Amino acid sequence: MNKITCDLLVVGSGAAGLSAAVTAAHHGLKVVLVEKDAVFGGATAWSGGWMWVPGNPLARRAGIDEDPQQPRTYLKNELGDRYDASRVDAFLDHCGPMVAFFERHTALQFVDGNSIPDIHGTVAATCSTWPSTAGRCNWSTAWPLSPGSRSRPRRSACS
Ligand SMILES: Cc1cc2nc3c(=O)[nH]c(=O)nc-3n(C[C@H](O)[C@H](O)[C@H](O)COP(=O)(O)OP(=O)(O)OC[C@H]3O[C@@H](n4cnc5c(N)ncnc54)[C@H](O)[C@@H]3O)c2cc1C
Repeated sequence: MNKITCDLLVVGSGAAGLSAAVTAAHHGLKVVLVEKDAVFGGATAWSGGWMWVPGNPLARRAGIDEDPQQPRTYLKNELGDRYDASRVDAFLDHCGPMVAFFERHTALQFVDGNSIPDIHGTVAATCSTWPSTAGRCNWSTAWPLSPGSRSRPRRSACS
């Protein structure tokens, strides 16, 4: 049996796994990604790809200057007892830079969702349109999806 060594073993090839794998590889780690299915992509390959990313660079480039406290207040009102300050801080501190990282260093590009209204528009601190909510991933530029389709990944070996 072949023995493979790596610095980081990533289990699963959805957005979470591939993002971790690409980021680690960019920083010089030897990464092995394993996938139990016959194809890459998981639920991510079927998804709409919309992400809620307050303060994302596409919104900033569109001239949207968002109060950084507003998404925190919105999450407090939305999550209630399940609000976890350290997790929310980690998310809000890193989600915008995450989009910038992928834009700068990978083939993954985004389209903005600057006019997408918030789903829970009655929650306090929401916006009629959430200016910086989004960034729709064009996954097909970065992940190995079948030509002409975002909805089903091609068969491919993990590497
Ligand atoms: C139709 C649809 C539309 C959606 N639209 C949106 C949207 O617009 N915005 C949004 O935020 N969310 C959306 N979602 C939800 C979103 O797709 C998921 O929350 C997200 O893709 C989860 O990503 P993930 O990387 O955690 O998991 P997944 O993408 O499911 O990836 C997990 C991978 O791990 C693999 N795996 C599991 N166990 C093992 C194992 N033991 N060994 C090896 N591999 C393993 C699986 O086979 C899979 O490939 C949508 C979902 C659907 C179905």
